[in-house]
Amino acid sequence: MNADPTAPVKALLQFIETERAFGATNWPVPAKGKIADKAAALAALYEERKGCLACALGTTRTKFVFGAGDPAARLLFVGEAPGFDEDQQGLPFVGAAGQLLTKIIEAMKLTREKVYIANCLKCRPPQNRNPLPEEILACNPILKAQIDIIHPEIVVTLGKFAAQTLLGSDVAITRLRGRFYDWNGVKLMPTLHPAYLLRNPSDKKLVWEDMQKVMKELGIA
Ligand code: SF4
Repeated sequence: MNADPTAPVKALLQFIETERAFGATNWPVPAKGKIADKAAALAALYEERKGCLACALGTTRTKFVFGAGDPAARLLFVGEAPGFDEDQQGLPFVGAAGQLLTKIIEAMKLTREKVYIANCLKCRPPQNRNPLPEEILACNPILKAQIDIIHPEIVVTLGKFAAQTLLGSDVAITRLRGRFYDWNGVKLMPTLHPAYLLRNPSDKKLVWEDMQKVMKELGIA
């Protein structure tokens, strides 16, 4: 028996770094339950990466925005990157778009505490500009380790960047959204970003259609 509770996540991180060094893009997911204590594994990952300087955003961030929620969540939301409020508070989706995401989650008969919420990038791009390819590449190992540890039943990606990053696709989000994809054994549902919905409220019905499919899959419809 391994005496170090952080050993599994250290081994996972080492494996991921090795894969990254060889340019791998298709990351294997450990069998469900392989990492027994998901909370400890996430905490170890946070400690390992909270001072990350793997891309230039590490020098301009106010706070590292790791993610929040239930480490054993059945449902994981993945957005693009922290904005101003998230950068100030160190928490994901706490600004106006975050409040809309909270309403979406509650409409699904869930709470923020019962799901997990993270972003592709853990540090805010200056002036909320789009993430650069090298920033996404540098930050991917952290997100993928989070997904490996949580091993949710469903990942919902919010907006273009998260969907395209995880699916390795350049197809428009309007064409990607609304159906499940297989991501290393996890069901992935792309949908529109809450920030987009704030600008285009008439498209909220599309997100609700997508979330109803997620609810049905989770057995909470
Ligand atoms: S954005 Fe990601 S890779 Fe870049 S410094 Fe922050 S945590 Fe590290």
